[in-house]
Amino acid sequence: MKYYSLNHNSKPCSFADAVKRGLAPDRGLYFPEKIPILPKKFFNRIQDQSIPEMAFEVIKPFIGKQINNNKLLEIVKETLDFKFPIVEISNNIAALELFQGPTLAFKDVGARFMARTLGYLKKGSKEKITVMVATSGDTGGAVANGFLGVEGVKVVILYPKGKVSEIQEKQLTTLGQNISALEVDGVFDDCQEMVKNAFLDASLSSVQLTSANSINIGRWLPQMFYYFIAYRALKYKNKKLVFSVPSGNFGNICAGILSQQMGLPINHFVASTNVNDTVPRYLKTANYDPLPTKQTVSNAMDVGNPSNFVRIKKIFNNDIYRMKKNFSGYSYTDDQTKKALKKIFSKKKYIADPHGAVGYLGLQEYISTQKDDFYGVFLETAHPVKFKDTVEKTLNLKVPIPNRLKETLSKKKVSIPIRDYNELRSYLLD
Ligand SMILES: *Cc1c(COP(=O)(O)O)cnc(C)c1O
Repeated sequence: MKYYSLNHNSKPCSFADAVKRGLAPDRGLYFPEKIPILPKKFFNRIQDQSIPEMAFEVIKPFIGKQINNNKLLEIVKETLDFKFPIVEISNNIAALELFQGPTLAFKDVGARFMARTLGYLKKGSKEKITVMVATSGDTGGAVANGFLGVEGVKVVILYPKGKVSEIQEKQLTTLGQNISALEVDGVFDDCQEMVKNAFLDASLSSVQLTSANSINIGRWLPQMFYYFIAYRALKYKNKKLVFSVPSGNFGNICAGILSQQMGLPINHFVASTNVNDTVPRYLKTANYDPLPTKQTVSNAMDVGNPSNFVRIKKIFNNDIYRMKKNFSGYSYTDDQTKKALKKIFSKKKYIADPHGAVGYLGLQEYISTQKDDFYGVFLETAHPVKFKDTVEKTLNLKVPIPNRLKETLSKKKVSIPIRDYNELRSYLLD
């Protein structure tokens, strides 16, 4: 499989090069030259396979011969080495819990897959790769944990000083080894800006940089697994399936739509957002008009200009009518999100997190406008303990801290203070 740039000004390249580069040289996002279609028999016997065997068949056509079958199966097994429970909230609505991984965020799957893939593809070469990410919270922890100890890969995480929760900060500053945390005197946008500058800086050409954001196909593609796992578990329901995905950069939902294009029988996707509503507005007005980011209680989705949306447009060949048949979008305020947390709790004593609550709202709204009988799944993208303050205040209860988190919280924070781009530059050249 080759990958081409959606800006159409770079040569197509292999899976390995696309993972090593992150973005194409023309700054475009990589996209597969062809979307593979899975055979009918794959879906007929989907329950006879283990989850890793199934996931292997899903990802294999995207990688081709670049990773041998045994190794790829091993990578997939390690990546998916935890549970993905489906918890029913009412008779036609369920939460798909994607937060049972080591850092309690759904980003663990993408980060673990990309880390193992990059580690393997680099074997035997002397060049060192630096993976750089800016984080507003969840990405940093998942990337740090996924890449810990991967040989030949150095990880640099930029996070805004005082703007991430204690749990999030500990998850990215306590690991050591090949992981460095840079504490930036500024907000998330400043961190993001510095990362962008570094990628464009010709004086850093001696440093091989790649990104571990969802623009990287190594992190984006494995997110398809969630939808196959859920379908495999829910096939017996024999109902039309709709997924509601709490969306920020739109990488996760884009992977879902890609799965559908490969033949996975999913009827509809709902992009649920907070007040950063660029995509829901686009679906209403056909006008793509990004606005500055607004802060919300579901802060992992505080994105004004979602980078993966170009991939979704590509999947539907820029045809908004085709897009709207498969894809709806709704946005919600913080007040509505908190009310939803209460409503979900009142139903099954289920403690959702603010992102999941936004997903629940979008799912309900979509289903209520349809005549058909649907089974709806909203993705629970983070453990509620990661957004403890909001959840505890809203529900008036205590969220117990899982054991694996207690250990992280007891470790000592190590970070490097950074004030401006020049300091980052010197650090990278050092
Ligand atoms: C990153 C994140 C999201 C948004 O996912 P995208 O792929 O960027 O749309 C939603 N919820 C949580 C908890 C996240 O960490």
